[in-house]
Amino acid sequence: MRLVCRAGLAILLVTSVAAQEKQSAPQSKTYTVIRAGTLIDGKSDQPRRDQVIVIHGDRIESVSDAASAKIPPEANVIDLSKAVVLPGLIDSHTHIFLQGENPAEGGYDANILKYPLSLRAARATVAARRALEQGFTTLRDLETEGAGYGDVGIKEAIEGGYIPGPRLFVVTRAISTTGGYPLEGYAPELEMPKGAQIVDGPVEARKATREQLDHGADWIKVYMTHRSWVGKNGELASQPTLTVEELKAIVDEAHGWGKKVACHAYSGTGLQRALDGGCDSIEHGLQISDSQIAQMLKQGTWYCPTISVYYTDWSPADAPDGQRDRLRASAHEESFKKALKAGVKIVFGTDMGGIPWTEPIAQEFLKMTELGMSPMEAIRSATSRAADMLEMTGKIGVLAPGAYADVVAVPGDPVKDIKQLEDVQFVMKGGQVFKSEMK
Ligand SMILES: [Zn+2]
Repeated sequence: MRLVCRAGLAILLVTSVAAQEKQSAPQSKTYTVIRAGTLIDGKSDQPRRDQVIVIHGDRIESVSDAASAKIPPEANVIDLSKAVVLPGLIDSHTHIFLQGENPAEGGYDANILKYPLSLRAARATVAARRALEQGFTTLRDLETEGAGYGDVGIKEAIEGGYIPGPRLFVVTRAISTTGGYPLEGYAPELEMPKGAQIVDGPVEARKATREQLDHGADWIKVYMTHRSWVGKNGELASQPTLTVEELKAIVDEAHGWGKKVACHAYSGTGLQRALDGGCDSIEHGLQISDSQIAQMLKQGTWYCPTISVYYTDWSPADAPDGQRDRLRASAHEESFKKALKAGVKIVFGTDMGGIPWTEPIAQEFLKMTELGMSPMEAIRSATSRAADMLEMTGKIGVLAPGAYADVVAVPGDPVKDIKQLEDVQFVMKGGQVFKSEMK
């Protein structure tokens, strides 16, 4: 039970009491005021000193200079005057139903074959709480990996106030093709469960999309490539899955419902089909060609690179898998730099769950800035830019009047030292305080 540290348990107890109270009393409409020593609003380039945020219910009413701020009488005042205050952070690529499966404990397959769904759901609630405690007040969670519509239930539990957690945008089961997703490698006579919904042909693709949207998907997630290896010419090769026609059926259906489509796509033909089929966000995008970058710019495609996860668990350098692992990282770095330079819309995403939830989510900020993104741009990728992608512009990812009061604080300036974002000590979501440990 390494995930349940004692501090985490204490926070869980505090917030679950708060949650129970919320069930019995209507949400308080009193005023809360936050005094911010430095405020990064999620949009503008310049931090501002000595600001006052006035919060009414779950929304921000005003943000102003301390000197001229009108503080409502009887307001509950939170003093963060020694801290740097930011909007709640957004991770646009997570898996609360994965736990960084350890191969020695059966890896990915054991998750599906051995664990009761109730266990997986229980662990997903821990993952959601850990994200919130680290300042991530919104997640786009990109599929349950065989846990069906479990993400819809976790989202309802959070929205109902039963458990603490971020705002969730969920995709439910995700979609791939025959031969395009695990469980794999079992006797062909066995009908094995799959980590995604398998479709073949545009009719099945459209039907799966309808089913998932009908059951609560906020986005549709599609696997456009499967696995990866070093190709004949030293390129990063990956197996394409859906055809353009299949993807077009999915995108057409999802867009008709006013929803968007996220495409896992590593490289090559599958990545090209993702763009030609009109997907809204490219996930990972390990090897993106110049013409594909141009197409992303033209189509307004979002890029969620998830860099850190490709630096974990490398096989030995002399093994084929080890060479593949190193190529993935080096090709990815190049793609990220090209996309950044070209002005592709980049959002912060981690693939947490692929990484154990015990690790810091904010480690991705360091990777993004090491590859040339400015700290403020990296912060925007996890605040206002991600909000734009989620069609929540002005509602989340920004500290401004009318936005939900999703507020976090760190002790030092993340523009000077991006690792400060791994030390979130105050977390408010929708006007409710979930963590307050400022030193
Ligand atoms: Zn993922």
